[in-house]
This record gives sequence, structure tokens and C-alpha cells, in this order.
Amino acid sequence: MAATVQSILQEYFEPFAAKHPLSLEQRLAAERLRDCRTPALGGHVVGCPEGHVRTVCCNSCRHRNCPLCSAFAREKWLAADR
Ligand SMILES: [Zn+2]
Repeated sequence: MAATVQSILQEYFEPFAAKHPLSLEQRLAAERLRDCRTPALGGHVVGCPEGHVRTVCCNSCRHRNCPLCSAFAREKWLAADR
């Protein structure tokens, strides 16, 4: 499996942060990217209006630098006619 920004943060952020001083903004950004779409950020129920399908999805972090959250906008931008 390929490494992602999130998988790297999940494995190495806490040991890194323990050794290196980070600003509050840096810590919060790294934590949001690490926790994006995991139970750490909570979840919501998604389903069809008729109630046939219902599932629980984990919340996104919505951080401007998150590769997971910006994926749709990136694909939309790439697919747009220019
Ligand atoms: Zn995100």
C-alpha cells in the first residue's frame, strides 16, 4: 500500500512533535490532516431519501491543505474544459 500524507502523519507525527517544538497552527493542521475521515472527527449518517440505504461516514477535516478533502475539487478542476 502506498504511503499517504495521512498514513505518514498517523505513524510519525506524535514522535516528531515530541522532539520538535511546533506552533499551535502547525500542530492543529497536522492533527486535522491525520484525523481526517476517521472516527476521531466524528461522523454522520448518509442515506437515500426512501431509507433503502443508510451508512455512517466519518467527517472530513475540511483543512485547506488536506489532500483527501481537496481531491474532489482537484479532479473537478482537472476535468474542466479550459
Ligand atoms: Zn481532510
